Amino acid sequence: MRILSSGYFLSAFNALVFIFPTVIFYPVLATYPASIVLRGWGWRSLRSRLGPLGVLYPAIWGLGALTYLALILSFLEIFREGIWVALAAWVVYSILEASLYLRAAGKLRIRLLYASPVSLAGVSAIVASIVMIWGSSKFPSEIRYGDLTPLFFGGAACLVASALITAVAALQIRAEKPTGERELESLLVTLPRYSSAAATQSPQPTQPTARPKGALTAGTSRTALIGLEVVSRSDTLVCLKCGASAPIGAVNCPECGERFRKAASGLRCPVCEAPFSIAKPISAGHYVCGQCFSDIRVVRRAS
Ligand SMILES: [Zn+2]
Ligand SMILES: [Zn+2]
Repeated sequence: MRILSSGYFLSAFNALVFIFPTVIFYPVLATYPASIVLRGWGWRSLRSRLGPLGVLYPAIWGLGALTYLALILSFLEIFREGIWVALAAWVVYSILEASLYLRAAGKLRIRLLYASPVSLAGVSAIVASIVMIWGSSKFPSEIRYGDLTPLFFGGAACLVASALITAVAALQIRAEKPTGERELESLLVTLPRYSSAAATQSPQPTQPTARPKGALTAGTSRTALIGLEVVSRSDTLVCLKCGASAPIGAVNCPECGERFRKAASGLRCPVCEAPFSIAKPISAGHYVCGQCFSDIRVVRRAS
């Protein structure tokens, strides 16, 4: 999640404006919108993984833009009271953002993000300071914090810390990998006819009669998109009904007489030909056949 991370690194820089207001005020005017765009974009790309809170990313953009515009108007003295609009928008923004941090921390299991809402302490301290000094100084060129300096700088430090924590945490967010179940499902949907290793060794003639009735026809031009690779080959079948074992190739269970599973078409275990639907996912792209317990890996190939 480079986008989210870079948004928060920028945000850490922006928060320094509260400590060095005159020095970096103009650079921050330039980088703040970029930071908002990146942050909103980062949250957008995570939206499907955050549950109901995933819909909040437009609010990040909207409130960020509102904060910025109101600040500019206030600064240019076009709308001096804009500062209050900006502060209000900033508070709401920060609360929404903190809820995203917590949601992402839980959902994506990035513990560091539990520390990110320290931003709320920073926002509270800074808003309180501005409310108290407003009127006694001209924003931002003649800001004098006086007795409030520790509160104000402490708040700014919280903001910088929160942004840095979030930026580092965002780097730990990996692109979503489909879990075993879902991956298998999508393979079966897109490749209904593809039949594992047997087919890769000798491409089956694609006579229409060979196709299962009603199956989607992938056509000969679409060659194998995936393959099943045997990681470790078992030499024993285990009866699904009674648990007795038999050598690979046995047709019936020697104990109970149950027929071993064999799929005529579709994805199947390269070792025992059991339908791949009884394989158990053990990690992304990695399965164990439910009948012979061979280790099988799903490999993608260029089409
Ligand atoms: Zn049996
Ligand atoms: Zn098998």
